[in-house]
Amino acid sequence: MPEGPSVVILKEETQQFSGQKVISVSGNTAVDIQRIKGKTASFKTWGKHFLICFDDFTVKIHLLMFGTYRINERKETTPRLSLVFSNGELNFYTCSVKILEGDINLHYDWSQDIMNKDWDPEKAKQNLDKIPKQKICDALLDQDIFSGVGNIIKNEVLYRCYTHPESLVGAIPTDKIKELIDECSVYSFQFLEWKKKFELKKHWLAHTKSVCLRCNLPFIKKHTGVKRRRSFFCTNCQNLYQ
Ligand SMILES: [Zn+2]
Repeated sequence: MPEGPSVVILKEETQQFSGQKVISVSGNTAVDIQRIKGKTASFKTWGKHFLICFDDFTVKIHLLMFGTYRINERKETTPRLSLVFSNGELNFYTCSVKILEGDINLHYDWSQDIMNKDWDPEKAKQNLDKIPKQKICDALLDQDIFSGVGNIIKNEVLYRCYTHPESLVGAIPTDKIKELIDECSVYSFQFLEWKKKFELKKHWLAHTKSVCLRCNLPFIKKHTGVKRRRSFFCTNCQNLYQ
């Protein structure tokens, strides 16, 4: 599943169509896409959501687990949504397509998005204070607190901050909580730069790894928390707060 930085890359790649009129639209989505024809597009992201904005509504694309897209080229399968502009085309496959009516700012709180200029770490701290009994591995994946954080970012941030994924939010010292919150944003921007250079995996220190380089000890691989997502961690250097 694409995490926040990968959706930011998609937005950057579609800038060529920003301010352009949609000449034709097609696709096998059930939503009424014909209303898009003739409208002028602009693009935003909120975490893992890719947003194609028009004057009085927005098309929300979520790539889910298996969604893909092609710019100025096509796959053999029928697109879920295809937009043709005078200077090229944008095609989405096996994704979720929804329409959000009215002003997009009424649908999203931009301060929850770790990569948005309005990202608010203090608000994330307040939201974490409300869920002291949750495990940090679940809290970091909560899109209403850390929109854009996915499983890779979760594993890397917890490793960087020497924190065990099963630590309870309320037991983690305040300074460490702030460090975790800040690192979600810092790591996401590094993820973005590395991904653009096709060298993201090379920089993974925890995700999918089998040995902790700090301790030269085997990593634990476990499906943690209520979300049961894969965690890779070292019980020697990552503190379990409980
Ligand atoms: Zn270690």
